[in-house]
Amino acid sequence: MSALPAPNAAAWAEAVRRGDLDPLDGVRAALARARQLDPGLNALLHLDAEGAEDAARALRERLRRGEDPGPLAGVPLVVKNNIAVAGWKLTCGSRILGDFASTFTATVVERLRAAGAIPIAASNLDEFAMGASTENSAFGPARNPFRTDLVPGGSSGGSAVSVAAGYAPFALGSETGGSVRQPASFCGLFGLKPTYGCLSRYGLVAFASSLDQIGVFGRGARDLALAFDAAAGRDRADSTTLAEPVEPCVPQLGRGVDGMRVGLLANSFAAGVEDTTQQRVRAAAEALRAAGARLAETQFPYEEAVVPTYYLLNTAEASSNLARFDGIRYGLRAEDARQLRDLYLRSRDAGFGPEVKRRILLGTFSLSAGYYDQYFTAALKARTLVVRAYLDLFRKFDLLLGATTPTPAFRLGEKSDDPVAMYLCDIFTCSANLGGVPAVNVPAGLGADGLPRGVQLTGRHRGEAALLRAAAVLEQALGGCPPLPQAAARALAA
Ligand code: GLN
Repeated sequence: MSALPAPNAAAWAEAVRRGDLDPLDGVRAALARARQLDPGLNALLHLDAEGAEDAARALRERLRRGEDPGPLAGVPLVVKNNIAVAGWKLTCGSRILGDFASTFTATVVERLRAAGAIPIAASNLDEFAMGASTENSAFGPARNPFRTDLVPGGSSGGSAVSVAAGYAPFALGSETGGSVRQPASFCGLFGLKPTYGCLSRYGLVAFASSLDQIGVFGRGARDLALAFDAAAGRDRADSTTLAEPVEPCVPQLGRGVDGMRVGLLANSFAAGVEDTTQQRVRAAAEALRAAGARLAETQFPYEEAVVPTYYLLNTAEASSNLARFDGIRYGLRAEDARQLRDLYLRSRDAGFGPEVKRRILLGTFSLSAGYYDQYFTAALKARTLVVRAYLDLFRKFDLLLGATTPTPAFRLGEKSDDPVAMYLCDIFTCSANLGGVPAVNVPAGLGADGLPRGVQLTGRHRGEAALLRAAAVLEQALGGCPPLPQAAARALAA
């Protein structure tokens, strides 16, 4: 079976920059691997072989001319299909967009391209990024490469699978409430949700705009740092990007955690968190302590309020954001409608799947006169408490450590009929989105069941450099991304 020519994005770019790896060979290896394995995994919605090969040839020319090809030179990139790439179909995992193709490219993709990365494919996702398993895609679920009867997590499941199965060393996802960190944890990857405002949302299809942020999957802390440094910073096309310059992470990566104060979150050891995950969080705490960090147990307040707050806010914002899909401006249009109102109703009914409809209904309800104060305003107040709780915690600590998810990957179909069970997957992740702070999943090896486990680090606002320094320490101590077991890889290739 064709394997990738380098183990991670950092090594790949180095090989290209040194002239040891021809960018076209590299891209072809990635495309071949994707073609070989994806029929069994359904992680991709489309491949852009021609565009990727053209970009690789252009990069080859630049190398020949002696130009600097950038820190991500020649590295194949998979892009979640709610992020715009000019000329690519932008489906958001939904039928409602029909054949709509984007006319422009997201700022983050542009910036990664400028750093040398080569977008090769668009990945599968839960419809409009609503979900935690990728089962809500209109194009069928993606599967976990460690065991194909399990979900890869979501909503950026296709991006996680692409990296875990080795189609590309890194990928973009999006986060509204854990959609990068949770699939990263289920697939044994590093996954970063940056500070709100550090990465431009221009070209990311809006789900809940006050929470949405593009995130990155990679095979090491350095991969995340390289992508973050290339992509972060003010963008005039997104007024919510922060004006302050973003501190680069790569130069700080090797500095360790000596003297850092780390709060160990007690909720990681609550009933309902499986034993292996608890043990890995303790192992991560020990590793940080051994590297010189000062650890103390702490508690995140309002724990029980986090998931309800997140779901009130994301549904409210979604109900408003998704109003633009009206059957007129983009994509699918019902054929049999005779009046305008009928056209809206029929197009939206045919175009949206059940989870998206549920969220639009819930959000419209909580925003309606009479219920607005009771639900939406209450949720906004609760969010303010979460923001303040982080400010308080980060006066005492530089980082927080805990579980990313309460359990490893679950079976396809296991939670499909129980939305609340699915929403509870976000219990440890969505607080960072509410607080706007950065957080990362760090792989913590396989359990006895052969499935990946992950631990989560959370940092202060704009604290990506410290976050990734600690992630690099844990990468050393916990062994980094677990490779796909030989048997799984062989079965997929068969
Ligand atoms: N599970 C979360 C949800 O369904 C994930 C959303 C996200 O981060 N895009 O809302």
